[in-house]
Amino acid sequence: MIKKLLITFSLVLLSFSTEIYAKEITKEIIRSYKVIANPMRMNQIADRFEVVKKLTTGYEVYVKEEDAKFFLELAPSAELINANTQSAFYADKSKAESLNISKYRKFADVERDLNTIAASYKDMATLESYGVTKGGRKLYALKISTNNSNTPRPEVMVTAATHGDELVTVEVLFSLINELLAGYGKDPRLTKIIDGRDIYFIPVVSPDSFEARERYVGGIDPNRSFPWPENTTNKTVDCIQGIMDFSNAHKFAGSLDFHAYGKLVMFPWGYTKQAPISKDEVILRDLVRSMARENQYKAGQISTTIYIAKGSSADYFYWKNKTEAIAVELADQKVPSYNSIPLVTQEAREMTWTFLEHFN
Ligand SMILES: [Zn+2]
Repeated sequence: MIKKLLITFSLVLLSFSTEIYAKEITKEIIRSYKVIANPMRMNQIADRFEVVKKLTTGYEVYVKEEDAKFFLELAPSAELINANTQSAFYADKSKAESLNISKYRKFADVERDLNTIAASYKDMATLESYGVTKGGRKLYALKISTNNSNTPRPEVMVTAATHGDELVTVEVLFSLINELLAGYGKDPRLTKIIDGRDIYFIPVVSPDSFEARERYVGGIDPNRSFPWPENTTNKTVDCIQGIMDFSNAHKFAGSLDFHAYGKLVMFPWGYTKQAPISKDEVILRDLVRSMARENQYKAGQISTTIYIAKGSSADYFYWKNKTEAIAVELADQKVPSYNSIPLVTQEAREMTWTFLEHFN
């Protein structure tokens, strides 16, 4: 009898979690607003919503459609910039076609390409999986290393698609991985980069939302769901727990997290306007400035360059793992025309090599 009850109970649980997942992959609608408010009110807004950009006057803020009413109570004078930031790419079919949206990798392409790379560069590239998502997708890290000795080299991590709707980050990461590996033994600079450190590339931090082309995971912003010094037990989502465990198990000297968009290169903290301790601040500020030398991205601390953002990856890795953790906002769109990927890669290339060379 008890056994029967248990089976029934777990079946109910199972169908319940399937239903939750089905909800997760429904197309989300995100509005964007322009907000001008006093600092106290802006802090309240940033606590609950994602401030994505500093405008000439005010800020651009992302608001889920279902939260719009509550948002407008906080910011009654907010101006609607875009009623659906996702629709331009996916709902409007002719626009999607003109941008060649269908050429962007889906998760199966990512999986296939990672396996191809690992098979083509057996001496240097190893494909690891550090977990599985609720949706049954593997969390992949591609390790590039030529170290066969017992002397450890610095470990660095480069990540993309923490936000599943920032498709350009994944394409750029693959371009850079392919260039780096193809250059080994031919290009002295790239050879030195590979020989000097163990590099872990994670092209898709959030596979389920990436496959759905969505920003959030079950309605939660992954890049606001890391714990931070003032909220050490922040409840997180599966893929973020995965990358936290992965990072905690390593000793990353540096991490570089690609987002889109905004043309920014930034260091912690995001959760406070306070700077990191001064010896770190000097190093981090110098690093982002050197990374921005060629592409002229705006370089600075997250909280002062955009706005206060609590629970982001850079804060976590810096706080927990003492990693020199950098966040980049690539390009001027999340999903630019597919044909412009070489241009965005050009923006990212020198910045990424400079970042990697910093760790030795
Ligand atoms: Zn992002």
